[in-house]
Amino acid sequence: MSDALTALRARLAEIADLRSAAVLLGWDQLVKMPPGGAEARAEQRATIERLAHERLVDDGLAELLDAAEPETDADRALLRVTRRDVDKARRVPGELVSDLARAGSAGYEAWLAAREADDAAPYLPFLERNLELRRRYAELFEREHPYDPLLDDFERGMRTAEARDVLGRLREGLVPLVEAAPHVDRTVIEGPFPIAAQRTLVDRVLRQVGVDDRAWRLDDAVHPFQASVAIDDIRLTTRFKEEGLEGLFAGLHEFGHGLYEHGVDPAYGRSPLAGGVSMAVHESQSRLWENMVGRGDAFWRWCFPLLREAFPGRFAEGDRPAVVAAFNAVRRSPVRVSADEVTYGLHIILRFELELELVKGSLAVADLRDAWAAKSRDYLGIDVTSDRMGVLQDVHWSEALIGYFPTYALGNVVAGQLWARATAELPGLEEGFAAGDFAPLRDWLRERVHRHGRSMTPAETIAHATGGPIDPEPYLAYLRAKVDASAALMS
Ligand SMILES: [Zn+2]
Repeated sequence: MSDALTALRARLAEIADLRSAAVLLGWDQLVKMPPGGAEARAEQRATIERLAHERLVDDGLAELLDAAEPETDADRALLRVTRRDVDKARRVPGELVSDLARAGSAGYEAWLAAREADDAAPYLPFLERNLELRRRYAELFEREHPYDPLLDDFERGMRTAEARDVLGRLREGLVPLVEAAPHVDRTVIEGPFPIAAQRTLVDRVLRQVGVDDRAWRLDDAVHPFQASVAIDDIRLTTRFKEEGLEGLFAGLHEFGHGLYEHGVDPAYGRSPLAGGVSMAVHESQSRLWENMVGRGDAFWRWCFPLLREAFPGRFAEGDRPAVVAAFNAVRRSPVRVSADEVTYGLHIILRFELELELVKGSLAVADLRDAWAAKSRDYLGIDVTSDRMGVLQDVHWSEALIGYFPTYALGNVVAGQLWARATAELPGLEEGFAAGDFAPLRDWLRERVHRHGRSMTPAETIAHATGGPIDPEPYLAYLRAKVDASAALMS
């Protein structure tokens, strides 16, 4: 190995250590920290982020990057990924970085107050400021559309035109499905379910799908998330509520994220090649476990006896089909976060289309509420009656996070492709689930997706795993089959 490459690796390992420390501070803040620590924690996190950033844009590191001589494919991937990270980081002036951070926290505070009052008007000027800064950010990069560099931050290499094509086709498939979906009675899965029993059930399920005490832990959090401190230090969180079993699905969702981080080739540890390759590929992993596995009939053939055991007397032996149908019920609701698989994509597409227009300037912030209401009617058949259920629903825009939304729906699309491929290549996969065997899917995902970390581009990763480019058809076919099955059950 060349001296420059060795020195470069050492510097990148230190940057990775700083980033891991920041992840741990963030996890601690949301899981363990007493509220009094908030102010000091903000300073601590900002200091670590600044140190990591300074090291990444350092001239000495740029020189080592130029001098390093790669010997293996992994070396070449390391140099390619690092060059790109460094280039992105060096292009953005420090002043714009701090303007964005400041506008993001001011926007967040304004959003909280507006939400409380259920009136978006005082918040809209903050959104305007965030958009203006994001347009300036976009101008620093090559682009066909001003949205391209924003999307690229979360889905490297994907262009706006491609996202618009994929999500446009998804929308055309979803709108008629929402209309076709039967009404499903959900009372069978409505609580109260004692939380201690839910905890025991989720613990058993997670252990069965692949969690162990050596490399994982599970905690409670207000908003469930996953944080990986290292390849063998994966932190999952979930949230339990007496009224329903959402904590189980949140746990499976975060498990999918954690399994991805845990499955990266250990040789990539402490380097920029560790971690997931993009937001959409990451979300494909969580959605696969939450929905394709966790809401599937085969999974419940294994899990239903556990559910009955957890809540004695609550479910009859013949309740399983009704329970599975209820977990898959399609409901028109204005709320994105609790949306079912069919309507979820439409919630995302609505946001994606609006933020595209906002960035381009073809939609004025003043007209955002009306545009939101019109799309809710067109796509979901819903009248939005309050700002809190409309433009104030999500935190993202308030923090100047623009370009993030489409990755949620793209993740579902990729999950559909992976599921089609896995079930075709692994005969007996679902019979295995019914017997509590999830190892074949875990191993397949590790081989096809996880172990590669960031060594390929997102598009290469998707092609390697699914055999083709990103395509909404397998996901739509999967949803159609689910809607047909529940229509058959209801008739
Ligand atoms: Zn997720």
